[in-house]
Amino acid sequence: MTTSTLTPQRANGIRMQCPHCDTPSLVRSSRALSRTLRELEFQCHNHICGHTWVATLEAVRTLSPSSMPHQEVHLPLSPVTELRRAAAELRNDPRQGSLSV
Ligand SMILES: [Zn+2]
Repeated sequence: MTTSTLTPQRANGIRMQCPHCDTPSLVRSSRALSRTLRELEFQCHNHICGHTWVATLEAVRTLSPSSMPHQEVHLPLSPVTELRRAAAELRNDPRQGSLSV
């Protein structure tokens, strides 16, 4: 996969507190490891601390299914989404009559 340096504007949305001094820190660069996993390099903005570190960002479950699913992406439905989907299927099942869930 590719390594990309995020522009300051794009990096503004991703923040993490420095694990050593708790200063809010921004992403310096990122690298895709797969369609669902990225590695992010952070730099602490506290010049006295100077810590830089790597963190990961991973898509772990689906809240609302994509209308354009990719064949390589298999994210489980969240439990709430699974319940809503099952309830919708029951409502649409003619064998259930007037049962409401
Ligand atoms: Zn720090």
